Amino acid sequence: MTTYIAPVRDMQFVIRELAGLERIAKLPGFEEATPELSEAVLEAAAKLASEVLAPLNKIGDEQGARLTPDGVAPAQGFGAAYRQFVDNGWNGLSGDPVYGGQGLPGLICAATVEIWNSANMSFALCPLLTAGAMEALKQHGSRELKACYLPKLVSGEWTGTMNLTEPQAGSDLSAVRTKAVPEGDHYRISGQKIFITWGDHDMSENVVHLVLARTPDAPEGVRGISLFVVPKFLVQADGGLGERNDLRCVSIEHKLGIHASPTCVMSFGDKEGAIGYLVGQENKGLSHMFTMMNEARQKVGLQGLGIAERAYQAARDYAKERVQGRPAGQKGGERVTIIHHPDVRRMLLSMKSQLEAMRAFGYVLAADLDFAQKHPDHAERERGQARAELLIPVLKGWCTELAVEIASIGVQVHGGMGFIEETGACQYLRDARIAPIYEGTTGIQAADLVGRKLPADKGRAMAALIEEMRTVEAHLVDAEGDALTSIRFALRDGVHALEEATQWMLQTIGSDANAALAASVSYLMLVGYVCGGWQMARAAIASRAGLRSGQQRDFYQAKIAIAGFYAEQILPKATALLKVVKSGASTALNLSDECF
Ligand SMILES: Cc1cc2nc3c(=O)[nH]c(=O)nc-3n(C[C@H](O)[C@H](O)[C@H](O)COP(=O)(O)OP(=O)(O)OC[C@H]3O[C@@H](n4cnc5c(N)ncnc54)[C@H](O)[C@@H]3O)c2cc1C
Repeated sequence: MTTYIAPVRDMQFVIRELAGLERIAKLPGFEEATPELSEAVLEAAAKLASEVLAPLNKIGDEQGARLTPDGVAPAQGFGAAYRQFVDNGWNGLSGDPVYGGQGLPGLICAATVEIWNSANMSFALCPLLTAGAMEALKQHGSRELKACYLPKLVSGEWTGTMNLTEPQAGSDLSAVRTKAVPEGDHYRISGQKIFITWGDHDMSENVVHLVLARTPDAPEGVRGISLFVVPKFLVQADGGLGERNDLRCVSIEHKLGIHASPTCVMSFGDKEGAIGYLVGQENKGLSHMFTMMNEARQKVGLQGLGIAERAYQAARDYAKERVQGRPAGQKGGERVTIIHHPDVRRMLLSMKSQLEAMRAFGYVLAADLDFAQKHPDHAERERGQARAELLIPVLKGWCTELAVEIASIGVQVHGGMGFIEETGACQYLRDARIAPIYEGTTGIQAADLVGRKLPADKGRAMAALIEEMRTVEAHLVDAEGDALTSIRFALRDGVHALEEATQWMLQTIGSDANAALAASVSYLMLVGYVCGGWQMARAAIASRAGLRSGQQRDFYQAKIAIAGFYAEQILPKATALLKVVKSGASTALNLSDECF
């Protein structure tokens, strides 16, 4: 089994050349975000990842978390690793300095999210959810709630969870039944939540649950849902921990992957009702929770990238070791390692080119979020926000779907050994499989994209994106060779497919919602492939400039070749998907239920 080494040079290339670290460092509060700082952060994260977190990945898979009479016990080594993670300040990397965080740009933090998830996806879920809880409290909590909870969540002394799902309320949260009855300055919460990630454990002193529930007179449906903060241990006036709250983990799920991440059934209020505090306004809980969900959706997209990178590294290393067969067209001669076989090279490059496209797309979007938050110019803030709103469902859906595909190709590269647990290739596939499901399935992301995000501004944010892609296309004109020319033609076709599919979608969503929704996942994937192509084209342009500088020739030549492969072998999927989208999946709609 191979270990994990973070591809810091690739990450730095994207951070500097594509996501524009220089521009980020001009934003107020981010002045210290130099390339040197970014590199130092990534090198330190890479060290912790390869020395501490990655070696626990298999142990966590084999042992899993366990439910004991005292609560959930994490797999061996996870508690110590978490302490090291927190002591080294990693939990507060993006946290607001007002609450003790380091306030680093989301762009640099996005790269660390990739690193944690490559090293150990189960472990990474714990800080991922804490970050979401921090964001929801920061944006919607009262001054008192922020003062009480944020410093501890930022430091990582306490962890956060997201309690949405109930047996009857999964994708459709309007069916949430958990109750919240007002009592003085707090509420009494009772009900059952299922599938709660890191819902209980002893790695931190306290677990802070963000819970969706209904007050007694709340209207039906999504307009009657409120958000509460419900700590495992009640917090006293002096900030110290008091009694245990009336909530507990009653069981944990046995599941396909991420065994070390406890997926808990949580029971609130078995006795007198768990004490909870309202976050934001009553009945506005779902929109407040969306703050947390958007944050989590972005990070689950990056998680897809992380697990894909890990699967790629394992496949690449195996392909360089495994000896099988002879070079094509030769009868005698030496047997070769499988990386010499054209089809294995195709598989490896399809993994690598797609994950590089995912990385560029994910980091550039993280930079857009930084601009949305910090740019002094209102128009730039709006632009960043509109871009992120439009593309977060694509990042989540496309990157996680590709993660499963890439991890599956990783198994294939290993041949029979890929199906055997020993190599680790199966674990990456099993772990990756949850990513297109939680934080809203791909179907839900696609419905969000075509039903809300795209029509919200009548397609303006998408039109601006297409315009920007066309500018890149123009920069691909190449006097020196035809490598960039073929990328240019592929991008031109991809952008054309995106434009036509978008027009169809905007026309159809209003007139025939069923047809639009039936085609929505194909549309989301089309957007993803073209966004990937756009970023790979930018990578090729930046590499051409890098080559002219005469330094790191091998690195830049490889980048152009990988972008070329993406343009040739991956991006044409967009044109095929255009046809699929425009068919509106009428067959699926017209078949009677009995015929399924
Ligand atoms: C390991 C794990 C960890 C999780 N962690 C958490 C957590 O920390 N907190 C939390 O609250 N929840 C968590 N979840 C729950 C997760 O978010 C839900 O499982 C997910 O949102 C899907 O809901 P569901 O399982 O009820 O599926 P369903 O909603 O029943 O969906 C089943 C299928 O129907 C499709 N579908 C449903 N409605 C629509 C629609 N309107 N349009 C199109 N397609 C639709 C879905 O795409 C899916 O394919 C976790 C789940 C798992 C398995």
